[in-house]
Amino acid sequence: WERRVRNSGQPTSNSINGHVVLVTGAAGFVGSHLSLALKRRGDGVVGLDNFNHYYDVNLKKSRQRLLEKAGIFVVNGDLNDKELLDKLFDVVVFTHVMHLAAQAGVRYAMQNPSSYINSNVAGLVNLLEVCKSANPQPAIVWASSSSVYGLNSKVPFSEKDRTDQPASLYAATKKAGEAITHSYNHIYGLSITGLRFFTVYGPWGRPDMAYFFFTKDILKGKEITIYEGPDHSSVARDFTYIDDVVKGCVSALDTAKKSTGSGGKKKGTAQYRIYNLGNTTPVPVTKLVSILEKLLKTKAKKKMLPLPRNGDVKFTHANITLAQNELGYRPTTDLETGLKKFVKWYVSHYQEKKSSW
Ligand code: NAD
Repeated sequence: WERRVRNSGQPTSNSINGHVVLVTGAAGFVGSHLSLALKRRGDGVVGLDNFNHYYDVNLKKSRQRLLEKAGIFVVNGDLNDKELLDKLFDVVVFTHVMHLAAQAGVRYAMQNPSSYINSNVAGLVNLLEVCKSANPQPAIVWASSSSVYGLNSKVPFSEKDRTDQPASLYAATKKAGEAITHSYNHIYGLSITGLRFFTVYGPWGRPDMAYFFFTKDILKGKEITIYEGPDHSSVARDFTYIDDVVKGCVSALDTAKKSTGSGGKKKGTAQYRIYNLGNTTPVPVTKLVSILEKLLKTKAKKKMLPLPRNGDVKFTHANITLAQNELGYRPTTDLETGLKKFVKWYVSHYQEKKSSW
């Protein structure tokens, strides 16, 4: 295990900057794509994931196999395991931590609220405790969420807008994460960059997200439920393609300033930044379904229902000026182009190879 971690964390000779990155949530959707992108350019990459059962573990294991083929070792462990994290930091000197592990999804909080607190609050604090004591301290880039804008009615959402009305426990824990990381930045000099992702989609995506289960159900001829706002108004999302988000993450890692502390002591003022990573083009869910019908060459059986109070907000829309100016972030993939790639992957992964659920 130690040898595998050490090898995985070794930058290759073509590495431009010699970064060594711990990617938490590496067997997840965004984490697996990002780990591969970092490895391709020569960074040392070590993954951490607890392979929980929130959704299909086979999918997480398939992503892990892809990473292993690329020479990335994913440690099977939990953010809350302090001993394990200390050990990882003893074996490898991480220049950066890309923190993506979290309990995602808004509706699951009604079944399992404690999983949000365990991973998104307690797990985050545990990770920060280890990072703060590391010498040198890594710069931390982590995934917040557009959900922090909550019941905000002002669009597009920009980073300075209010975030004091979360509509779900998930959103509340992401908002808490922003406050917690700020305190570690202030007290211990940790360099922190929070990225508010907006509905990320694409190949190897998450089965709990609408574009994914709509595809599955349309192909099976099963009825799908589409929620709508008052007076049949559209629910819309600023769908953002995975490759665009990955580019934003890589650029956030590259522009992150070094932490200013070491061994738990602060030595100067460190960077604390928050950026929206969205697509700037909200698309109604009804339009998402019609694109899927076209790509799948199958009519969906639709049921329309009013949007319940289950944590979902009516719309999301990112203002990305800050990320454009400071990270050079430029999303380039429109929804139809991105969904075409998702559907191609879905069909080959689940239908042709008959992978199990
Ligand atoms: P994902 O669920 O596919 O990935 C998260 C991974 O973290 C999973 O593989 C899970 O097993 C792992 N994990 C969860 N709790 C853990 C713990 N305590 N210890 C170790 N591993 C743990 O989700 P994703 O879509 O890849 O999201 C990545 C990050 O981006 C998350 O923080 C999520 O909240 C955030 N985010 C995602 C979206 C999106 O649309 N995908 C939008 C906004 C924010």
